This record gives sequence, C-alpha cells and structure tokens, in this order.
Amino acid sequence: MEELSNKINNIKKRYRDIFLKTVDAIHARVEEIRPSGVEGDVFDKFEENSKGKQWQRAVLDMFENDICHEIYRKWNEILEYRKNFHCNGCATCCNLACSEFSPEELKEKAKNGDKFAAQFTKIFVPYNSVQEAEMIYPEYLKLLSDTLDEDVYFYHCPMLDDCKRCSAYENRPEICRVFPDNPLSILPESCGFYQWRLEVEPVALMLHSMVEIIDYYKQKIPILEERMARGQEDRL
Ligand code: SF4
Ligand code: SF4
Repeated sequence: MEELSNKINNIKKRYRDIFLKTVDAIHARVEEIRPSGVEGDVFDKFEENSKGKQWQRAVLDMFENDICHEIYRKWNEILEYRKNFHCNGCATCCNLACSEFSPEELKEKAKNGDKFAAQFTKIFVPYNSVQEAEMIYPEYLKLLSDTLDEDVYFYHCPMLDDCKRCSAYENRPEICRVFPDNPLSILPESCGFYQWRLEVEPVALMLHSMVEIIDYYKQKIPILEERMARGQEDRL
C-alpha cells in the first residue's frame, strides 16, 4: 500500500507543479497584451472606455478565441491517440464503476435529462457495501478512494457473466463503448488504456489546469459581472 500512496501523492504533486507553471504561462500571455501606460492588475476595476477596460476585453477575447481553441485541439489529439490502444476485456470497469453520486442522486439526474446518468443507472447497480466492492479489487478501490477527494459510491454491472464477458456486448450502451473517454480517468493497471493514460497524462493535466485558471480569470475580471448586471437592467 505504501507504493500506492506514493503513486497518488506523485499524481497530486505533478498536478500542483504543472498548475503553477500554467499560472505563470497564462499570466505572461495576459501581460504580453497589456497596453502601454496601463497600471494595475487585470482584475482591477477600470473606467469604461479606458485602456484598462480594453485590456480586460482583449484578455477575455484571447481566452475565447485563442486559448480555448488550443485546449480543444490538444484534447482532440489526445483522444485521437487513444485509437492506438484497445480494451483487453479485463472487466474491471464493469465490475467496479465508481461515481461521486449516490444511486438516488443518479436517478434524480437521469430524471432531469442527464444522459450519462440515464445510461449509468440503466446498467449499473450499487454494491451493498464498500466491503463487498473491496473484495473485488482491493488495490483499485483504494486507488479510487484515495485519489478522489469527495465521497465515492461503487457499482457493478449484472450483465457481466461468470466468464467475465459482457452478455449484452453487441447492445452495450454508449458509455461502455467509449470508456475511458477521459485521459484523467483513474484506471487500473490491468486496463488496456493504462499506457495511453500514462503517456498523455502530462498534457491532459496541463489542459485541465488551463481550464481551471481561465475560469478563475473569467470570474475575477469585472467585465462579465458588469455585462450581466447591464443585461439584467435592460430586461427591467
Ligand atoms: S453492459 Fe457490458 S460492457 Fe457495459 S458495463 Fe455491463 S458488462 Fe460491461
Ligand atoms: S478496464 Fe479497460 S481493459 Fe478492462 S474492460 Fe474496462 S476498458 Fe477494457
């Protein structure tokens, strides 16, 4: 278990390091387009029609038109590269699926139109207890519980037969066909996509951190707030 905890701590540390580098890289791009003579921070309040306000608009445009497109393109490259790897039928993901949502919450989400929740609740049933799930794959369960900060619930699929084969293979739902479609999914070492995840992890973590940082900028640059307030005023 020592080795496993180290692995988890290493992922968290790698993400922290990448996150800090990305903060610097995005900050540098914001500074690159600072108009001459503008003092202060991009999060400050500037007068309407001032150079500072133009800078804030340019920063938001750069996120929207350049950086978000770069993230999208890179993410698609990662998914394209996934085609070089294949499911080997180890059945771990059928036997031990996890979700941050309880069965009741998933049903509620499905009722409200969430397509993933609808498919998930159609095939997966919850384990009666964490201990029951633990018996299936103790190492993977520990990896999942320790990596995710929030509570997790464990599920299994009754379509899996005694030979660990999917009894509904031809008609298996979309979520089974595309799994794992996220390079940051926690995968067991037995998974045929484990190597894919290892190879693309640094770039995927960087893209994830870019999204988080851009969201932060978007929330803190006062322009959006003003736009929303203006929109509300217009509607009154
Ligand atoms: S439907 Fe088949 S592929 Fe999907 S989780 Fe169940 S056993 Fe696995
Ligand atoms: S864990 Fe990976 S290799 Fe195993 S059944 Fe699921 S997708 Fe296939």
